[in-house]
Amino acid sequence: MGPPGSGKGTQALKLSERLVIPHIALGDILREEVAGGTEIGKQAEKFMSAGKLVPDELTIDIVRERLKKSDCRDGFILDGFPRNSNQAKNLEKIFLELKVGLDRAVYFSIPLPDVVKRLSERRSCKRCGAVYHLTFHPPKKSAKGGSASGGKDVCDRCGGELYQRHDDEESIIKTRFSVYGDETKPLIKHFEEKGVLLEIDAAGGVEEIYSRLLSSLGISK
Ligand code: AMP
Repeated sequence: MGPPGSGKGTQALKLSERLVIPHIALGDILREEVAGGTEIGKQAEKFMSAGKLVPDELTIDIVRERLKKSDCRDGFILDGFPRNSNQAKNLEKIFLELKVGLDRAVYFSIPLPDVVKRLSERRSCKRCGAVYHLTFHPPKKSAKGGSASGGKDVCDRCGGELYQRHDDEESIIKTRFSVYGDETKPLIKHFEEKGVLLEIDAAGGVEEIYSRLLSSLGISK
């Protein structure tokens, strides 16, 4: 958990590679549905492009079906779910159904000015979802750096094209922040009461935050 731009997607991806378990990012799944022009994608798009939450009727079933897949047997990292109290309640039910437990809820805490700066230069891979920052974590083949990448930024991991998310535009960022404050932030208390909350200082560079995350989880590099 954490506000938009707190780095949760970047860290979740790194941790999933370290632990060899799937990184399940609901935002990525929804963006794939939109790109594929599916029925779910068509319904989700108007909420996403406005920076609002997609209705629970769509998201909860997606998560349930995804967690049933065999690659989740040895664990998984959920990124961007739950984002409101109804989703949190339903996630508990899904965990009971699937007989799995929640080990940790990681909360990336960061001051607002830092995240605005991060989001404006964020670029994501169209193919694998990897996330870059043009200044702090640039792709090796960067158009900004004037490399031979044909004017396009390219993903280091898979060679996919990088793009700027439509919802990273300033006016939409504002809505996403207020949705986060109203609906998602209250969940931090919920996880704290359950004794699973782990708060990470999410200011600084990717590797610095990753080291903090690993040591808080008691995992070696
Ligand atoms: P993210 O990639 O996590 O920043 O999510 C991008 C957008 O996808 C959000 O602004 C929402 O419109 C939608 N979304 C992602 N996760 C959820 C969720 N748990 N519930 C509802 N909408 C979501």
